[in-house]
Amino acid sequence: MNRIILFCGSFFLLAACGPRTLQPDAPYVCERCDEWNEPHIPFRIHGNTWYVGTDGLSSILIESDAGLILVDGGLPQSATLIDTNIRALGFDPFDIKAILVSHAHFDHAGGVAALQRLTRANVYFSEAGKAILTTGRLGEDDPQYVADSDEGSFPAIENVTAIGDGEFVSVGSVNVQAQYTPGHTTGSVSWTWESCALNTCLDVVYADSLTAVSAEDFSFAASGAATRMVESAGKIADLPCDILLSPHPFFFGMYGKLERIDEGNPFINELACTFYAEEALGWLEQRLQAEDR
Ligand SMILES: [Zn+2]
Repeated sequence: MNRIILFCGSFFLLAACGPRTLQPDAPYVCERCDEWNEPHIPFRIHGNTWYVGTDGLSSILIESDAGLILVDGGLPQSATLIDTNIRALGFDPFDIKAILVSHAHFDHAGGVAALQRLTRANVYFSEAGKAILTTGRLGEDDPQYVADSDEGSFPAIENVTAIGDGEFVSVGSVNVQAQYTPGHTTGSVSWTWESCALNTCLDVVYADSLTAVSAEDFSFAASGAATRMVESAGKIADLPCDILLSPHPFFFGMYGKLERIDEGNPFINELACTFYAEEALGWLEQRLQAEDR
């Protein structure tokens, strides 16, 4: 036994103890996948909060005094880019202690399996969504579920810890709170934490998608998803919120804000969560009118 441990800890480290470089899963193919997966330069949003995602899919790194937290993993083919971005900022991916997921779709959870194999971090998600992550297959209640089809499937994630609404994932002195916000999916979670810089502490909200996107026959009204979405929009609007982030950079105006980065910090906007919720309700209204026709 001792000999095996010695072997494992020395010469045969790579072969016997698992990969130390990222081993990506097969890429997901979709109409917008290539566009979403264009690389993006990583940057600091504020204090402990860094953008490490691709051009069209957010991935957020939170720094603590005892390790890192990663929020979302993009597509399967995004994992390599996220790993590269984390290293480019001078962080070590092996310091990631927790990976949080916003919702269990291929474009935000697709890269998580490979990132977990690399970092051996714990993955945290809602009770309702845990089974989707561990199987990599959409549930029948998912608006994008297509019967008898692999549509939307993504690499299964081995170990997922379910976390309740309002509970915290803590790494060092950073506490990230789970805010259940169902609607886009049943298991959707928004995540909130505090980011401090120059003695100013701000509330960051990673608000999950609030878009009514679905497979052909799904009804947001009849399924109750519309009601859940309205409640979730209200919850996001009411959260303490100085900085809004979300799974697609487009939702929080990242590109325009980066162009104004020399004028203070354009990511700080205490009305951003309210606007986000209002916009979502507008989209939902349009969708419900279309369902009525
Ligand atoms: Zn989605």
